Amino acid sequence: MSGFVPEELIDNIRERADIVEIISEYLPLKKAGKNYKALCPFHQERTPSFVVSPEKQLFHCFGCGVGGNVFSFLMKWEKITFPEAIRNLGEKAGIPVSFSGEEERISGYKEELYRINELVAEIFQGELKKNKRAQAYLKGRGFDEETVATFKIGFAPSSKEFLQACQKRDLSREKLQELGLFFASNKESRAYFRYRIILPIFTSRGRICGFGGRVIDNSMPKYLNSSESPIFDKGRTLYGLNFSKEVIRRGNEAILVEGYTDLIYLHQVGVRNVIASLGTSLTPWQARTIKRYTNQIFIAYDQDKAGVAATLRGIDLLLEQDLRIKVIPLPRGKDPADLVKEGGDLFLRKKAEATPYFDYRLKQEMEKRPSLDLEDKIEILNALFPTLGKNKNLVRIRDFIKKLSHELDLDEESIGIEFKKFKRDNSKDLFRSPFLRKKDGREEMEKMLLQLMLDDEEIINIVEKEWDADLFRNSSYCLIAEKLINSLKEGKVASAKLAGQLEEENLSSLISSFSLSKSSWEEDSKQNLVRDLMGSLERNNLQRRINELRKKIKVGEDKGEEKEVERWLQELTRLKKQIISR
Ligand SMILES: [Zn+2]
Repeated sequence: MSGFVPEELIDNIRERADIVEIISEYLPLKKAGKNYKALCPFHQERTPSFVVSPEKQLFHCFGCGVGGNVFSFLMKWEKITFPEAIRNLGEKAGIPVSFSGEEERISGYKEELYRINELVAEIFQGELKKNKRAQAYLKGRGFDEETVATFKIGFAPSSKEFLQACQKRDLSREKLQELGLFFASNKESRAYFRYRIILPIFTSRGRICGFGGRVIDNSMPKYLNSSESPIFDKGRTLYGLNFSKEVIRRGNEAILVEGYTDLIYLHQVGVRNVIASLGTSLTPWQARTIKRYTNQIFIAYDQDKAGVAATLRGIDLLLEQDLRIKVIPLPRGKDPADLVKEGGDLFLRKKAEATPYFDYRLKQEMEKRPSLDLEDKIEILNALFPTLGKNKNLVRIRDFIKKLSHELDLDEESIGIEFKKFKRDNSKDLFRSPFLRKKDGREEMEKMLLQLMLDDEEIINIVEKEWDADLFRNSSYCLIAEKLINSLKEGKVASAKLAGQLEEENLSSLISSFSLSKSSWEEDSKQNLVRDLMGSLERNNLQRRINELRKKIKVGEDKGEEKEVERWLQELTRLKKQIISR
């Protein structure tokens, strides 16, 4: 991405924006040695593990692994893109930023679509003012004027009226089609939303990315959402986040509801930390986004069959983000909007009764099996172990096992043993993820070598002289090492610059982590250490090639490929000599 923003401009802005100064605007930083420390804003903690280095112009949290340069910080805090972070810091430093090429073309194109959506929303809002029936409907549903204005609620007229209004504003038909607002075939052209109450759907920054429409009579479908477009992806939208993100961050809790009406009703009675998943099931993207603002979530889905299923799926997704999850016990057949309409603080009282997710899960499973004999109990354990296994905290796991023992009247120790068995049988899954893969000695050595390179330019020189394509087998480390060597050739190595260049590959936190970790070597023995490491890595490579050759030779002998085998044997002797001389 950075390729489209002139490198010089990025350097210029980064050099003027002091990381300590910028981060201090958001967090209280405390001096600690040559660095600064703070409680990490990206995860919950009691002792500070968030480190900012004025010397390297990098930050890193040793608790949750977030890190990078001043741009990375801003992107993570403000939830903005790299170009936006550049523009933002450029403004602060008094450097005007304009983009060139592809980036500008794409953002210009999307900008145009957003602009059209804003204008279309205005058309719908204007139509609402003309339509008494729609107004009466909203009033009857209890929406006050302020709510209608805040949520930019409108009304979609007939196809003809909609088209006329669009023509008057000179809106391109093609783009209206692209936004799914309009269809044209050779027979007829038709607006997508007709005679419906319209609720714009906002991005987290308050832009209108799509629309939802509800009928005011009994026609079907009752609700209709914009189809996906270059700016609208339902699974990557959390309705209401633009209104609630600050409240959620400040209060460190969020309430998750199903639809926009629930959210609007709650907003109207002052419950402002609400987001809606738009449709029944939460997506992994939505779960990750929630985690960025809070680590505590209350699920308030309808408790009908579909709602229960959605709650259960949501729990597993949110658990993967290590969130504290509670479920609000809504009376069956009622949604949050109903409770608000019933008056008082009924919803908040229900919220106070929210059950921790595990109790909720347990209750669901127990209700399914009212006879609760021994086989039922075993089934319940099997149903709950996967959820329990997603938990990362041992104390919590123990507590849940105790609860299971109590509720199911089973021996605690046996449940514990069964759970361990379950974990062991399912642990294969763990190793599928590259991050959880057991680190071998080789990876540790590569990491240390890279840390040394980041620490000292002289070491980059030593490594470069003996550079061999196989030196780093970890592709991320290899990329970083190559970048280090190149930037030294250009003059100077700046870790903060490097972190920026690698932002897109998600490697910036690797750089900050390596650069800010306490080094475990003696200053004056560094060069020897590097030579030892490189020697070991090379021997490891040679050994690998030897093993491969041996396999080839064996297969070749079986197939009778004498000539090749002869050649491989010579190669093997050569490699063996090499490994001894190392
Ligand atoms: Zn952290």
